[in-house]
Amino acid sequence: MDTRAFKRSLHHSERYNRRGFGRAEEVAGSLEEAYKSDLIQSIRDNGYVLEEGRVTIRLAEAFGFCWGVERAVAIAYETRRHYPTERIWITNEIIHNPSVNAHLREMDVLFIAVDEGVKDFSEVERGDVVILPAFGATVQEMQLLNERGCHIVDTTCPWVSKVWNSVERHKKQSFTSVIHGKVKHEETLATSSFAGTYLVVLDLEEAQLVCDYILGNGDRDTFVRRFAGATSPGFDPDRDLVRIGVANQTTMLKSETEEIGRLFERTLLRRYGPDEINDHFLAFNTICDATQERQDAMFSLVDEPLDLMVVIGGYNSSNTTHLQEIAISRGIASVHIDAPERIGPGNSVEHKPLGQDLTRMEPFLPQGQLRIGITSGASTPDRVVEGVIDRLLFLAAEQPVEVSAEAQTGA
Ligand code: SF4
Repeated sequence: MDTRAFKRSLHHSERYNRRGFGRAEEVAGSLEEAYKSDLIQSIRDNGYVLEEGRVTIRLAEAFGFCWGVERAVAIAYETRRHYPTERIWITNEIIHNPSVNAHLREMDVLFIAVDEGVKDFSEVERGDVVILPAFGATVQEMQLLNERGCHIVDTTCPWVSKVWNSVERHKKQSFTSVIHGKVKHEETLATSSFAGTYLVVLDLEEAQLVCDYILGNGDRDTFVRRFAGATSPGFDPDRDLVRIGVANQTTMLKSETEEIGRLFERTLLRRYGPDEINDHFLAFNTICDATQERQDAMFSLVDEPLDLMVVIGGYNSSNTTHLQEIAISRGIASVHIDAPERIGPGNSVEHKPLGQDLTRMEPFLPQGQLRIGITSGASTPDRVVEGVIDRLLFLAAEQPVEVSAEAQTGA
């Protein structure tokens, strides 16, 4: 399919909107009330530090809602105002945050059902309004909604659209897009739908396997088995790894994306030499600023002496998981939670260790002085971070302060 031509015609349709409805002021109050926090603002104003009792909270200097998410949520609120009586759907979660999605449900926004990873559009009717989320939707979904006569409100972040433009450029120049991402993540599904020939690599290890193959050090059957489900239909590693452009899911670990880009460039240089490199490798620049800022702030935060790191964000939020990986890589005890309610009852927490199921930990907060680092993913409102801090402080105040042996004996 000529995805560029389809997008062009969609953008000219009267049933398509990607800029909002000019109602920003009308919805500002509701957004502020639902998502902003005076406490968080005061911590920011105080150099990102809060000291209370035995606890010192250190906030990352960039965390929480990125502008792409803020924009998507605001457009969703505007959409409700603009279409007060129409049925409004979201093709999935608007962003990966349970509290934001709960607010939208309260506004009678419906969520398209998903069964084993497949969206069920059967209930969507002509004239319904469908909001596409910040991480985008596949070109096939857009086509279906357009043909069904729906009004499409597209909140796809411009950074994500930029990646789509990159893979379309690869397609036009007969390059294979190597996409650094999670193969089942909605953003990567959307990006690959705009690509021509593509291969999704999860991490540096998979990228290395591909590069080994390019240099003649791989077995074809093993390769095909390993990447089944992560390639475009009919992908042939012998034919399709000759001209490569790299693209990324915008929320992957920036350092890893860059390393993967360099690895492919080095590999193709070795294979084809500097005179021909431009025919075999296309450089890229699609790392989102917000992801980069949050990851950089996390790297600074974990340089501080911390007893505990609390990472807040949806469990299916890729950028939140990467923040937790940074804490773990520094050997800092960390918990990933998606809501304040995960803390308690008593001194317990229900959290999600990296790559594992939810688990309850008790006791949670140790005794004595505590330095707690806090960050949150790009889809987490300040109001949720405030809720977590309130619970941590309450819990710390309830637990006894460790008394030194000298103090206990009066020595
Ligand atoms: S993390 Fe980046 S790409 Fe994703 S919505 Fe935010 S600004 Fe856009």
